[in-house]
Amino acid sequence: MKCLQCGQRMKSGRENYLYRESGLPNVTLVGIEVNRCPGCGEHEAVIPKIEQLHRVIAMGIAKKVPRLSASEIRFLRTYLGWSGADFAAHMGVSPETVSRWEHGSARMGAAAERLLRLAALTREPSSDYSLDVLKEVAQKKPADRRLRMRVERGAWRPAAA
Ligand SMILES: [Zn+2]
Repeated sequence: MKCLQCGQRMKSGRENYLYRESGLPNVTLVGIEVNRCPGCGEHEAVIPKIEQLHRVIAMGIAKKVPRLSASEIRFLRTYLGWSGADFAAHMGVSPETVSRWEHGSARMGAAAERLLRLAALTREPSSDYSLDVLKEVAQKKPADRRLRMRVERGAWRPAAA
């Protein structure tokens, strides 16, 4: 294939590729195909199954023990498909606060960080709890929810009010 920048023929090879496009400084993709241009240095990585790759990276970040870095916060936010404004709405903070988290100029609170991790861990389509509910949380005065529970086919279930 030819280089889009200078038209020279690119060389294809396998290498351990530092995946900077992820926005994370420390993700290496082992032994993937990379086309490099000998003329101008342009390169193109061939990354298979990118959705699944991002899921595995996101799970690793969501489950890690140390606090999240600014770039990890940004990665999880984009993994969730949230804009900065979506993220702010879900977390109940201002867009400026989100920007500070993602630039490392403010530390995310522990509760917000856990919520972000939980959102990433439960993003799978099999989860029937819509995270859109979080946008509504804390918008209204506290009030106990009226719950009616009934046994149905041997298990407690909420009954329609
Ligand atoms: Zn080139």
